[in-house]
Amino acid sequence: MAEIIDGRLIAKELRAAVKKQVAVLNEANVIPGLAVILVGDDPASEIYVRNKGRAAEKVGVAAQTFQYDASLSEAELIAKIEGLNADPAIDAILVQSPLPDHINEQRIQEAILPQKDVDGFHPENVGQLFADRKGFFPVANTPRGVMTMLHHEHVELSGKNAVVVGRSVLVGTPMFALLQRENATVSLLHRHTPEALRHQLLQQADLIVVAVGVPKLIQGEDIKPGAVVIDVGINRMDDGKLIGDVDFEAAEPKASLITPVPGGVGPMTIATLLETTVELAAIHHGIQLEAGWQNI
Ligand code: NAD
Repeated sequence: MAEIIDGRLIAKELRAAVKKQVAVLNEANVIPGLAVILVGDDPASEIYVRNKGRAAEKVGVAAQTFQYDASLSEAELIAKIEGLNADPAIDAILVQSPLPDHINEQRIQEAILPQKDVDGFHPENVGQLFADRKGFFPVANTPRGVMTMLHHEHVELSGKNAVVVGRSVLVGTPMFALLQRENATVSLLHRHTPEALRHQLLQQADLIVVAVGVPKLIQGEDIKPGAVVIDVGINRMDDGKLIGDVDFEAAEPKASLITPVPGGVGPMTIATLLETTVELAAIHHGIQLEAGWQNI
């Protein structure tokens, strides 16, 4: 029987830690500022953006949402971003994806100042991660949130055999970098990995992180007894139920630690976004936050 990792609880602890650091910034007359840009009226994106804004306000981060019509041109969006880059009240800028087809997502990621790139998608920040640079730079919030969970649960990574399934720029690829930076031996699997090889690698893994978007891709037989299983996947079924990429019922009896869906990785992403916003604000204003404040 696995211990279930309670993402809601860890996210709550992280938000409380963020709120304390916001108070430290406030003492120096700094209010961290987050700008969230939404283009179009995708209902799911509207919900995500609203949730980010609410969570920000609760910890004292000033969130401004800028919603534009789907007809906004790429040049107009870049001009808006440049305005926010130059705005001293804004420490962090996030552009909600997906963007309309006529807007090139990569050019938008590159338009955000790396020092305000709260999602960690700018090639300069991605490069810092892969060049194993020390010091602070923003990293994609979902995989960073997974690392916080693993640290919170005292999961040993050094020398361990880790398998990441899914290689998106958003989750799988930075996850690979973060785990190998902590001395795990990491395999990165994707849609071209032959099924037999996928099963073989998974069955040897001490740690499995899955971010694919295929319900129950990872089965009970894939789990080595005692493995740690982190399920990033969120799949909405026809009955409205949310399930992950791991067959939870089959995996749970074999794993030592496992995340549920919902209530696992999901809540960590927004809490980590707030964590990154506060760190960016502190750097912009030359304020030293308490050492190890994130060690929740
Ligand atoms: P994506 O579609 O960008 O990437 C999916 C990856 O899975 C690709 O690299 C692809 O090669 C790989 N893949 C597809 N089929 C595969 C297979 N059969 N075997 C192995 N690999 C396969 O998706 P994403 O943005 O990385 O998101 C993945 C999942 O995580 C989705 O369910 C998404 O909703 C969820 N997600 C959750 C959070 C969160 O906060 N919890 C954040 C981001 C994404």
